[in-house]
Amino acid sequence: MVRPSDFAAARDRLVRELVAEGDIRSPRVQEAFIQVPREEFVRSGDRSAAYADVPLPIGEGQTISAPSMIAIMLEEARLAPGEKVLEIGTGSGYHAALLACLVGAENVTSIERIPALAVWGQENLARSGFGGVTVVQGDGSLGYPAGAPYDCILATAGSPRIPEPWPRQLAAQGRIVAPIGASRFGQDLVIARLRPAGSLEIRRGTPCAFVPLVGEQAWPSS
Ligand code: SAM
Repeated sequence: MVRPSDFAAARDRLVRELVAEGDIRSPRVQEAFIQVPREEFVRSGDRSAAYADVPLPIGEGQTISAPSMIAIMLEEARLAPGEKVLEIGTGSGYHAALLACLVGAENVTSIERIPALAVWGQENLARSGFGGVTVVQGDGSLGYPAGAPYDCILATAGSPRIPEPWPRQLAAQGRIVAPIGASRFGQDLVIARLRPAGSLEIRRGTPCAFVPLVGEQAWPSS
């Protein structure tokens, strides 16, 4: 049985590693990682592995991403307090909790395709003090027009291209941070910014390997 103080020490150690590796670069992202107990977002049998820098299975063939990958995405998103964020792929709810630390829980909407994960992710968020995050079950390849416009759309599943509905749901200067690639299991992290004329300025970041974004505007289900 791991004690709460052991989790806190493991969390501090992981954060120091992520800073040393250059994955965490800003004090705000560092503070968010300190605030969120990752052990509350993994399956009960995996709690002792919660602070290893690896993805872990969360059921339904899905994973909670490695902390270093999440840190890279959060730094690329450059979120300011009060900005509105749509996360595509709630999974465990961990990444949504970190987003809530950065912009405020009331400004985070997270959409999940698999009903059981949407329920589990919402439960994890509520139990950990992030119940103000809005979790929606649905196909995030279509975005979530009801909550638009967003300052940032951040996807945690990989798509063959930026789904066409997403840019239309961005606010002025809005950003998309998403794994994009021609393979179902290998992508580059793409950072896109909406220009005033409506087109996207696109930059390719680190290679990555996310589970596929399955939906009408992304990969087919089989
Ligand atoms: N952000 C999650 C976390 O912190 O645990 C990571 C989740 S996992 C890497 C990606 C998630 O995207 C999975 O839960 C998967 O079911 C979900 N997903 C895949 N396609 C989706 C879609 N079209 N809409 C919403 N969620 C989707």
